[in-house]
Amino acid sequence: MGFLKIIHGTLITPFRYIRGGTIVIQDGRIVGVHERDVDVPGAIELDATGKFVAPGFIDIHVHGGGGHDFMDGTEEAFLKIAELHAQYGTTSLVPTTLTAERKDLLHTLDVYEKAKVNNNRGAGFLGIHLEGPYVALSQRGAQDPRYIRNPDPAEYEEILAYSSSIVRWSAAPELAGAIEFGRRLREAGILAAIAHTDAVYADVLDAYENGYTLATHLYSAMSGVTRRNAFRYAGAIESALLLDMDVELITDGIHLPPPLLKLVYKIKGADRTALITDAMRAAGMPEGESILGSRTNGLPVLVEDGVAKLPDRSSFAGSVATTNQLVRNMVQLADVSLLDAVRMASTTPARIMGVDARKGSLVVGKDADLVIFDENITIQTTIINGRIIYATEQLVSALLPV
Ligand SMILES: [Zn+2]
Repeated sequence: MGFLKIIHGTLITPFRYIRGGTIVIQDGRIVGVHERDVDVPGAIELDATGKFVAPGFIDIHVHGGGGHDFMDGTEEAFLKIAELHAQYGTTSLVPTTLTAERKDLLHTLDVYEKAKVNNNRGAGFLGIHLEGPYVALSQRGAQDPRYIRNPDPAEYEEILAYSSSIVRWSAAPELAGAIEFGRRLREAGILAAIAHTDAVYADVLDAYENGYTLATHLYSAMSGVTRRNAFRYAGAIESALLLDMDVELITDGIHLPPPLLKLVYKIKGADRTALITDAMRAAGMPEGESILGSRTNGLPVLVEDGVAKLPDRSSFAGSVATTNQLVRNMVQLADVSLLDAVRMASTTPARIMGVDARKGSLVVGKDADLVIFDENITIQTTIINGRIIYATEQLVSALLPV
């Protein structure tokens, strides 16, 4: 297979900038990272003058986009969501389910296996994230209360035995059986995350010691400081900030205001914070009425002001963000450097999902998953496994063999 060479761009490794650097790609891998142009006979050249070249964005929590939801139960939905998000810079993602009946979860796991094989034009799949159904009713957000329940070993053992593609599971640690569940996930090598929870510090500490290492969409559907009989208790938010847990943030610019983005970044830094879209099906679609969850038994929602809301506008019901927006918002709203914003969208999520040996930075030997974007973090080109999956017309016409 031939070489692809990206020249004249500003590389974001993302630990430093290499201005006027060159990336050489062959057989789906990065085979060269250079400080200047290098001669590669027969290479196809991609000129990134005036643009940034960064590792592809890794979205470890996403439900849908382009009019589809992973709970739709069709292969088409998986493939279209992957394609939509690739256009906005996502090169890998973790398809995420919503609280549902066991049979619908098992069906989604079946569809995932088929879709994985045929996913050639979209962001790669890193495995499935089950969000719920073991969550706190009081912090359900837009999760369907009909299907919320406590961890049941008979049920989760069946699900774990059914699929080897589950890489992450989000649950409320204060529920009966949740600590045992965390230990079981850790033993199975599955990332356990605290989510949709009313936990206090003692619960979160217990969870942390027993396998839960990530806080799912910090601040959203999660307890803060509470008072019980006059005494104050740290909630799940403060506990996740205090303990050495990883956190993920919906940085669509709407779920969390700039001071909270800055606060989390100040406490956790770029190494412990992953940017996520948590996007629902309306990402990349016009605003208006939509559905959260599956087409057949999902929840009607309203998309306006750049976010999905419950019909009575009492709560958000998912974001419509894309990963390039997440990076842009950290830079423009939270005054974070572009290097750190890119790290939170690539290196850190790769490490959290355990794929950092292959993904998350521009170094020789890693998968050639790259994005090229302009000053405003508008995506010009997305390259996945060395293949140009998406490019603006201007860049396609500039592709010339030398
Ligand atoms: Zn979610």
